Amino acid sequence: TVTSRTTRSTADWQRADAAHFLHPFTDFQSLARKGSRIITRADNIYLWDSEGHKILDAMSGLWCVNVGYGQQALIDAATRQLRELPFYNAFFQTATPPPIELAELLCEVTPPQFNHVFFTGSGSEGNDTVVRMVRRYWDVLGQPQRQVIISRKNAYHGSTMAGASLGGMAAMHAQGGLPIPGIVHIEQPYWYALGRSMSRDDFGRVAARWLEDKILEVGPDKVAAFIGEPVQGAGGVIIPPETYWPEIQRICDQYGILLVSDEVICGFGRTGHWFGCERFGVRPDLMTFAKGVTSGYIPLGGVMVGDRVATVMIEQGGEFEHGYTYSGHPTACAVGVANIRLIRELGLVQHVRDTAGPHLAKLFETLKDHPLVGDAETCGLMGALLLVKNKVTGELFPDEVGIGMVCRGHCFGNGLIMRAVGNRMIMAPPLVMTTAQIDEMGSLIRRCLDLTL
Ligand code: PLP
Repeated sequence: TVTSRTTRSTADWQRADAAHFLHPFTDFQSLARKGSRIITRADNIYLWDSEGHKILDAMSGLWCVNVGYGQQALIDAATRQLRELPFYNAFFQTATPPPIELAELLCEVTPPQFNHVFFTGSGSEGNDTVVRMVRRYWDVLGQPQRQVIISRKNAYHGSTMAGASLGGMAAMHAQGGLPIPGIVHIEQPYWYALGRSMSRDDFGRVAARWLEDKILEVGPDKVAAFIGEPVQGAGGVIIPPETYWPEIQRICDQYGILLVSDEVICGFGRTGHWFGCERFGVRPDLMTFAKGVTSGYIPLGGVMVGDRVATVMIEQGGEFEHGYTYSGHPTACAVGVANIRLIRELGLVQHVRDTAGPHLAKLFETLKDHPLVGDAETCGLMGALLLVKNKVTGELFPDEVGIGMVCRGHCFGNGLIMRAVGNRMIMAPPLVMTTAQIDEMGSLIRRCLDLTL
């Protein structure tokens, strides 16, 4: 029997958790030994655990709670819609008002080439939709041999078969027979690891030309699309040089291949622009989104379909044999509408661009004086600290030391959540963060670094 939520102790939650709940991306047995930290409530940018500890959430949940916790407008939108019409599907020539309203709004806030949207339940499903849609697009155009999608190593595009195949995570590819056929990878634009012998700008152009090399290797008439995150998030907040994306755009244009921007993390203001592609000056044909569309209050994802693809799919494609029960879920979409209105009302995109982003950048500059920090970079309200063994030579800690994990251990103990990716400590705090809260986060970060020394 399940006991009342309010009367259960932390140990009791941990026991039941270990007994029944298989967590994502988790070594089940080791978590069962340690016990989960049980998070029980949240407000603004803070979480509280079952022991009453207050924690500053510098990861916005999982890159998603962009408007912060406890926003009444989102709670009201969900409650109203749950009462009125919690669910009806969009199959069989029916529609409900919320996805129509959200589609309209999305077409307003995305770049001008986007006038259509396909809804999914998550970012992974969005990227599965991308794979099916770009292949279908070329089929309809009479070029069925164009099947290959080029992605990048260390990219993260989700956990479904197609999403994980598009992703470039070696550990994921090692399980379950991935990648699926027709998906190939090039190196990532990670200057510190791959290009330090040249300037960032030169490296950006070199890294983009790895795409051209791959297109020529595969055969230009076989390549359907290139997909990339404007800034690689889960890979460690890898911010590309300014020269990278314009060169990628030039190459895609030259060979006529579709450009897909995975905006699951970078969308909805994270970079100080509505979408990351705008920050880097590229004009994608398709854009995957999720997370920030509802600020994570309820699951929702989708694909913005640019005019180039939409025209073909609509006018010549016939039935697109693809969709999900929750494509256009009314309650999720009602929250999406309230969330986008709130982002506008609060001026969050401008806040990140003009105030919070520059303040975070300044904070990261000051952190560069710490003996452990070899590099510190930000883009809007996301950032990464590279922890190095030797600041002069730039020598990294060997991966097995797990220095980031040590640092993260101190974070939790000191009331801060940031994430460790190898030697990189990464963060993406809620966009509502004030400059005073950024300073508070800075003090917590410095304390964690000092304890890691
Ligand atoms: N794409 C990117 C860039 C992501 O960061 C993620 C998740 O972190 C996904 C896709 C997958 O989204 P979801 O976990 O909602 O399936």
